[in-house]
Amino acid sequence: MENHFSVLVVEDDPVSRMLLEMTLRKAGYDVVCAKDGREALACFNERFFPIVFTDWMMPDVDGLQLCRSIRENVSAGYVFIFLLTARDSRADMIAGLEAGADDYLTKPFDRAELFARLKTAVRILNLEKSLKEANEAIRVLSITDTMTGCYNRTYMDEHLSKELQRAVRYGHAISIVMVDIDHFKEVNDTYGHQAGDQVLKVLVETMGRSIRSKVDWIARYGGEEFIVVLPETDFESAQLLAERLRTTVSEQIISYNGKDIRITASFGVTGLSSDRGVMGLLEALSHEAMIRVADKCLYRAKQEGRNRVAATSVGEDC
Ligand code: GH3
Ligand code: MG
Ligand code: MG
Ligand code: MG
Repeated sequence: MENHFSVLVVEDDPVSRMLLEMTLRKAGYDVVCAKDGREALACFNERFFPIVFTDWMMPDVDGLQLCRSIRENVSAGYVFIFLLTARDSRADMIAGLEAGADDYLTKPFDRAELFARLKTAVRILNLEKSLKEANEAIRVLSITDTMTGCYNRTYMDEHLSKELQRAVRYGHAISIVMVDIDHFKEVNDTYGHQAGDQVLKVLVETMGRSIRSKVDWIARYGGEEFIVVLPETDFESAQLLAERLRTTVSEQIISYNGKDIRITASFGVTGLSSDRGVMGLLEALSHEAMIRVADKCLYRAKQEGRNRVAATSVGEDC
């Protein structure tokens, strides 16, 4: 665990630099060296170092300037900074800590003390890591529909409008498909609510396999209604995809408690093609307006007998 953190050693004196480098390497740390503050900052431009050992007195950018600069400019994560210096007055130590150092070691360093203090740094960095992981888990939960694992309405509201703005700005295509299971109430009535839940899960899995991973995405819009967002997909291709989804869903057999359940779904499609000419007109287009068009199409598909796709391009009247 300890040895997963990379260390940047910043020291202008070659002998001291090599001594510290060797000491840390022997303990298993991945070490990179810089000969002054300026070179250290250049190293940070290449990659991130969670642990820095820096000398104080160096030409150009000294240790204190380096501390300040790291605190101001490095945002990828917390950098635990050790100031390693021959200056050992109380005033020096205070100046070092105030510049942003976390700990202060005097030269020549004592190995046992150095490793004991390094352990403190690792403990704090590990704490930061677990906090970040917990935050990420909460973030994922907050945008996920727990039952099906697809995105939830909160995510959709925020991200569909972003995708749409991007498409309009760059004149790219974007389409959406609204999906609603046909006579879903009957599935619940016939097989039970839990079977209905299973049907929803399988529907999302099935549709997920038919779209481009990492580009297209699915959100649960309401109870048994989903929206498939297809960036960079023009209206015609979206209709083809919806038709493919329709066929796949209608042919699938969903097993639940020894029963074979079959469903169909209806699809409402809308989208804009990558035609820069009309983009000016669409700047005010909201994702709500786009969803309204898809919803109208879905309604039409239901009216026309269900298990079908109805489509209207954005701008065309439904
Ligand atoms: P239509 O073909 O017109 O869409 O008919 P429908 O029966 O699918 O439509 P309706 O809107 O009348 O019913 C939707 C049903 O979906 C009612 C509700 O109980 C069910 N439903 C909504 N969310 C869930 C859920 O999370 N799990 C289960 N099992 N059922 C759900
Ligand atoms: Mg020096
Ligand atoms: Mg419905
Ligand atoms: Mg329905």
